[in-house]
Amino acid sequence: ASPQTEMGRLSRSLNAMLAHIETAFAAQKASEAKMRRFVSDASHELRTPLVTIRGFSEFYRHGGLRTEEEVSTAMGRIESEATRMSELVEDLLVLARIDDARPARQRPFDLLLLGNDAAVDARVNAPGRRVTVTGLDGGSPRNAPVLGDESRLRQVVGNLMTNALRYTPEGSPIDIAVGTVETVGGAMDSVIEIRDHGPGISDADAARVFERFFRADTSRTRETGGSGLGLAIVAAIVAQHDGSVRLSETAGGGATFSVRLPFSAHDLAEELTATDGA
Ligand code: ADP
Repeated sequence: ASPQTEMGRLSRSLNAMLAHIETAFAAQKASEAKMRRFVSDASHELRTPLVTIRGFSEFYRHGGLRTEEEVSTAMGRIESEATRMSELVEDLLVLARIDDARPARQRPFDLLLLGNDAAVDARVNAPGRRVTVTGLDGGSPRNAPVLGDESRLRQVVGNLMTNALRYTPEGSPIDIAVGTVETVGGAMDSVIEIRDHGPGISDADAARVFERFFRADTSRTRETGGSGLGLAIVAAIVAQHDGSVRLSETAGGGATFSVRLPFSAHDLAEELTATDGA
């Protein structure tokens, strides 16, 4: 090849390399900006309960609390703010760990198991609620085998159930639907849906609920004491399992959270062998 063609090729590959470096650099900058915002949001969230705790203890030290009742109320507030802080720290740690890497313990199991367990938990923790487990079409529930980190996927279902119980009125029923669906590409997904019949989530909020620290209608939800990290944790765990989570409206009103994970026939095969052997 002539020196000219050689130079041309060299300059083209240099340009391509430069473009790569620029893209990588931009991505790095964007992720740094995200990290900075995360740290500042987290600090802000931690500062709020701290200010209350400090306020009450200073008030107490300066003799501002006179009656036993006042002292008791203040102590109650300090305790609940401290609890809020430790829950927040717990959630932050979970998120930090998820961000680290892929799930450590991938093993085959069935989403139906998680659905059934969640219904049992709800019967214990929220005795007034009617929680049913059905198939995706409302019929009988189906197996939904996946490969994943069971304790993390338990947290996914747990967070969605906590929200369904927290943001809907007492006595409002919750449906857990489990089954499989065919994907666009002709593969299969295992699905678990938590369908509530509460106020639902507005379209404007729906676009943001998976963001870290986002709470719809702040004043109302602050009272009920979430960290705003529950759904961010759900989204992070699901993404880590190559799945997706989607919010839609329950037929008749309410929120439906639908978690899809790659179907893993592995589990069924094992179950069959286990039954055959028994
Ligand atoms: P939080 O700790 O505030 O519950 P989440 O990330 O779990 O944080 O949820 C974010 C916000 O989405 C909540 O503050 C609430 O406003 C709204 N939300 C979540 N689940 C539901 C639901 N099932 N029904 C109505 N609103 C919900």
